[in-house]
Amino acid sequence: MEDFVFNAQAARVVFGAGSLQKVSHEAGLLQMQRVLVLATPEQAEQAQHVADLLGDKAVGIHAKAVMHVPIETARAGCDEVRRLNADGVIAMGGGSTTGLAKAIALETGLPILAIPTTYAGSEVTSIYGLTDQGVKKTGKDPRVLPRTVIYDPELSLTLPVSLSITSGMNAMAHAAEGLYAQDRNPMTRLMAIEGIAALGKALPLIRLHPNHIEGRSLALYGAWLCGSVLGSVGMALHHKLCHTLGGSFNLPHAEVHTVVLPHALAFNALAAPSAMQDIANALGVGNAPQGLFQLAKDNGAPVALKDIGMKAADLDHAADLAVQSPYWNPKPIGPAQRDEIRTLLQYAYEGVAPNC
Ligand code: NAD
Repeated sequence: MEDFVFNAQAARVVFGAGSLQKVSHEAGLLQMQRVLVLATPEQAEQAQHVADLLGDKAVGIHAKAVMHVPIETARAGCDEVRRLNADGVIAMGGGSTTGLAKAIALETGLPILAIPTTYAGSEVTSIYGLTDQGVKKTGKDPRVLPRTVIYDPELSLTLPVSLSITSGMNAMAHAAEGLYAQDRNPMTRLMAIEGIAALGKALPLIRLHPNHIEGRSLALYGAWLCGSVLGSVGMALHHKLCHTLGGSFNLPHAEVHTVVLPHALAFNALAAPSAMQDIANALGVGNAPQGLFQLAKDNGAPVALKDIGMKAADLDHAADLAVQSPYWNPKPIGPAQRDEIRTLLQYAYEGVAPNC
């Protein structure tokens, strides 16, 4: 066995249908007595429900989270925390809301209790992002890691099927890249395989029975595991491409991950054969990139960048950006791979099956 280092992300996880009812108890365990509940405007009602459950422990609701945490949104959140003299924040929502909570924690040091309602996985990472004048910068800081995560599958029953599928594919991307990460280890491998297998089973169930708790529970369990992989090891080409496409061309986060994943894996397939085998086995298919492409397609998710707002005229620029700064990938990336990346993007743009 090879030597390894495993960085556990020490969060308390409370999992189960109906576990939201424990929110006041869990906030108390974190010594939170004056909590600000965060959400997007669309989830203000769910935030109000959390505040009601908290009773005297809630000092307000701040339903102003938006995608990619613009710096102005982060500042407004910090101002609200100071105005209300809050001693903790609860993030009730997807990655955008958790992102706002992280920005507040980074500035104020306040603890976060996260209640995720998508499968993005941000709640179990110490990665934060902030967007200033259209440029998103990410960083890592232990202060932004939520202390407690309440996973209540009942809360994801309202997540539209289309977003459930793409969000689930987004989660699987963390695990897939984790399997060939430079700093991978036996623990992250176990989590990745189990997470991919859970989501591979959950997504068709959600499409068929969006209101059944079974598929929702399995998906949230998979999302936790896949997010934990993202929190523990480094990512590579796939995440770099999605960051570039999402940030520079303003494409929707989960959809971009869904479209790009099969093609990024095909690019890396020969350089990471055991990761491909693990993914294929977890999904019960013969070929990992094609299995993921089919999973997305069969469940009605977008498979073409042209269908989610990408313009053909921007593909050249996207390929240039993807090879501009060096980063680790199982198959090395640099200016010499620019044309290969451009071809990958063309496949993803057109929505044809991955080339492997
Ligand atoms: P999101 O949080 O932007 O949510 C998308 C929409 O769905 C929002 O309108 C939201 O209110 C709504 N929604 C969420 N849950 C719902 C539910 N259960 N029912 C009904 N509507 C619901 O989307 P996301 O994909 O979860 O997050 C994307 C963001 O998270 C991106 O900015 C991404 O960069 C970030 N992210 C960060 C990390 C990290 O580790 N830092 C990891 C993954 C994603």
